[in-house]
Amino acid sequence: MSWEALKQAGAFDLLSDFGKSAELQAGIFYWLGRAKNEAKINGTIGAAKGKASQILPDGDDKTITMALPSIRSLIPSLGTEEIFPYSPSLGNPAFRKAWRAWLLHKAGATSGRLDPLVSAPIVVPGITGAIYTVLRLFCDPGESIVVPDKRWENYDNVYEKNLGMKVEPFRFFTGGDFDLEAFLAAVDRAWQGKNKAVALLNFPNNPTGYCPPKTTAKEIIQGIQNFTAKAGKTLVLLLDDAYEGFVYNQDAESRSLFYDIEPSEYLVPIKLDGITKELLWYGARVGCISIGYPQAWLDKADKADIEKELGNKFEFMARSMYSNCNTMAQNVAAKALENPEAVVAERQKAINILAGRYDVFQELLPKIDRNKLNADPFQGGFFCFFNAMGDKAPKPADIADHLLKKYEVGTVPSDGPGIKGIRVAFCGIEEENIPKVVDALAGSAEDLW
Ligand code: PLP
Repeated sequence: MSWEALKQAGAFDLLSDFGKSAELQAGIFYWLGRAKNEAKINGTIGAAKGKASQILPDGDDKTITMALPSIRSLIPSLGTEEIFPYSPSLGNPAFRKAWRAWLLHKAGATSGRLDPLVSAPIVVPGITGAIYTVLRLFCDPGESIVVPDKRWENYDNVYEKNLGMKVEPFRFFTGGDFDLEAFLAAVDRAWQGKNKAVALLNFPNNPTGYCPPKTTAKEIIQGIQNFTAKAGKTLVLLLDDAYEGFVYNQDAESRSLFYDIEPSEYLVPIKLDGITKELLWYGARVGCISIGYPQAWLDKADKADIEKELGNKFEFMARSMYSNCNTMAQNVAAKALENPEAVVAERQKAINILAGRYDVFQELLPKIDRNKLNADPFQGGFFCFFNAMGDKAPKPADIADHLLKKYEVGTVPSDGPGIKGIRVAFCGIEEENIPKVVDALAGSAEDLW
């Protein structure tokens, strides 16, 4: 953008250097906007939608954003004090306690080992807020973060454009599975000249829907633990668990890696998650940061003191930026999570609906010529990703444009180093429309190559 209006108005020069350079590329919003107007089937939006009758007890046939009945029903029942006051900067204590208990509930067999090590969750404005806050505190401008080449495009706004960090990308896949060697090599590069590196992993992954098979998940954990211990350098490993639980394939790992990693002075896992997708409440704007403290830290300092000092730093971030997070959402979630089994059972309905769409997609995948549009392995999440293959491949934006114009199917193209293809958000596409999407992809492959 050239900021003509701001310049003409005389406002541009009032901005800081950072303010002058701040620019959100139209990217995904361009495709969302076009899909709204041009698509009959909209595969651009990262929010699960379905018929109200499939998910709410009194739902009709209208398509809605999926919601958990136990959360939906609580909203009219809240008292004034549960809605209107400020919340504490680090989060409402009842919610923090409930989210920690939820984390341990999901950890299952390893909850006993984790309980003494896991911090109280820090409440932040969504997982986006979690990523920003953690990186602001743990990385300086110019430092690099290790991330997969196939990643959520908004990370780059946070790391590079907002925080002035560098990206150290690694190839996500080799032979149809996670490229552990490439990941460790990138960590090694990020360690050059220092003793600390920061990396981020995201399973189920946006944009590919990849979740490691159970055996691969074990290898990843073992591989990272051995590698860091041997190097004697520290890796701060951020786990973006935005889509935790949304896994549709029996062989894939549905647990967050956080539950099985043993924190050490060389490996500090930080779990970033939240209400957004896990409790299907996108507009709640409540995310959480939970740190796995290494026993070595707790041997040297009191856990309560560490919590207090780190808490002070996170509180500073809150006070100096967003003050505190949504009170109503924290209260509702805390109440709903008093019965985690009910939350799990209700959410399973949404997961089953998405799994139905996933099964149809997988079954029909062979209709698409994989030498032209080749799907990355996908086992969960809200999306799948089709790589534009070969030298003759059209630009991803041209494929998305063709899908819209000829087939009225909305998708989001990605075009950058290590990523060239289109993302289909099947979370927002009814099962009966998946065959049409597959036909549109197969047709586009024939039309365009
Ligand atoms: N992380 C990933 C991988 C995502 O895909 C998204 C949303 O699309 C987010 C984080 C953002 O989560 P939130 O809405 O809680 O900020």
